[in-house]
Amino acid sequence: MRIYNTRSRMVEEFVPHTEGKVKMYTCGPTVYHFAHIGNLRSYICEDILVKTLRYLGYDVTRVMNITDVGHLSSDADTGEDKMVKGAKREHKTVMEIAQYYTDAFFDDFKKLKMAMPEVVEPATHCIPEFIHMIEVLLEKGYAYQAGENVYFDTSKLNDYYVLSNMNEKELMVGVRDDVDEDTNKKNRSDFVLWFTKSKFEDQELKWDSPWGVGYPGWHIECSCIGIKHLGEYMDIHCGGVDNIFPHHTNEIAQSEAFLGHPWCKYWLHVHHLVDKNGKMSKSAGEFLTVSVLEEKGYDPLAYRLFALQSHYRKPLEFSYEVLDNVSQAYEKLVRRIADLTDDGEVDSEVYAGYEKRFGDALADDLNTSMALTVVYDLLKADVNDATKKALIVRFDEVLSLDLFGAAERLKADAGVDEETKKHILEKIEERKAAKKAKDFARADAIRAELLAEGIILEDTREGVKWKKA
Ligand code: AMP
Ligand code: ZN
Repeated sequence: MRIYNTRSRMVEEFVPHTEGKVKMYTCGPTVYHFAHIGNLRSYICEDILVKTLRYLGYDVTRVMNITDVGHLSSDADTGEDKMVKGAKREHKTVMEIAQYYTDAFFDDFKKLKMAMPEVVEPATHCIPEFIHMIEVLLEKGYAYQAGENVYFDTSKLNDYYVLSNMNEKELMVGVRDDVDEDTNKKNRSDFVLWFTKSKFEDQELKWDSPWGVGYPGWHIECSCIGIKHLGEYMDIHCGGVDNIFPHHTNEIAQSEAFLGHPWCKYWLHVHHLVDKNGKMSKSAGEFLTVSVLEEKGYDPLAYRLFALQSHYRKPLEFSYEVLDNVSQAYEKLVRRIADLTDDGEVDSEVYAGYEKRFGDALADDLNTSMALTVVYDLLKADVNDATKKALIVRFDEVLSLDLFGAAERLKADAGVDEETKKHILEKIEERKAAKKAKDFARADAIRAELLAEGIILEDTREGVKWKKA
């Protein structure tokens, strides 16, 4: 496996710390709003990374945090706290907001067929670990107290900008407009580890600490949660490119200062999904979510395919026009798979050849569009259907486009007109509502009604599905 490592700025051979095992960390969402499809581009790519590593035989453990405290809307430790802002907007408590949007995030995860990380840890569950790390940083002289906050002293490091390739001068330009520059800091690039006194007096969640009642800075959570679950060495850390500076730069600073040795070898960053106006962001008003796409009639997996068609190291521009084309391509692909028969026996030599080609494409810095080309080449090739089917099952372990599920639904759908489909979906909704109201007799009656019309309902983990009897 070869991947581009932001830390070395090169495509490198991936060699994990322990042979065959991969410890991977993903920066999770800040749960003050829905994830937009830009955020989800990053998670889709990370999902492909996990599944590629598994396809290639690695045993992967993935950890993800949930940022439910202390992420400021400006990354220069100024601006409003995002969680507090969300709670105010919706007249709810911060914890209510966090739970609601965490659930919504994982609903999207499921719709996009992403594998759940082995560990998901909200920042608010790890306060003692944050305090411990900050105590050690103070003891080692990497942190200082000023103005009732605790800061990380970036001047103590030889190479603070190792990841971001920035320098003090650029940083000063970056914060030039920031009239609120924190005067407690010894150096401009220092960042807060623990707040007891911030500009946001209304912070809802606070904890006792050796430095007074307060709350953690944003960056400390990923260092602590990563070390807590993956130990002192991590193989690969992922996020969107906006995480490179300051978030990941600060994570490296505090983790390596704490551990006293290098921490994570590979850093993978996904470029942004943009629209005509630039980067999609949660804080800037309207944004596109999976639900919005569904309301407009798109299958979430068409968006997954949209994301897979481009390389993660290039910005990707979203437009409905392109999504329409990709939706059609997805339907066409599913139709071709639905047409495959059970003819022949799996030809193991052909199977091994395509399996390798597909793996090689992904092992080449996650070349997803090349991997898709292998799928299309296979479908066109003079190979028996049994072999094609077996290979597509294997490929879909990584692609996760639910190719056979969608093909089955297509076959079940065949010959059912739009009016009838609408009727079935309405009945399914009615049955859902009856079940919710614990009116099981009504729910059963609806199922029986549909059966009498020749439609069978199936309750599956992904929801209710129907097929012709
Ligand atoms: P947040 O919830 O804002 O902390 O972001 C969650 C993840 O989405 C982070 O890894 C970000 O780097 C990433 N991200 C934010 N905006 C975009 C975008 N427009 N395109 C791709 N990834 C993004
Ligand atoms: Zn993080």
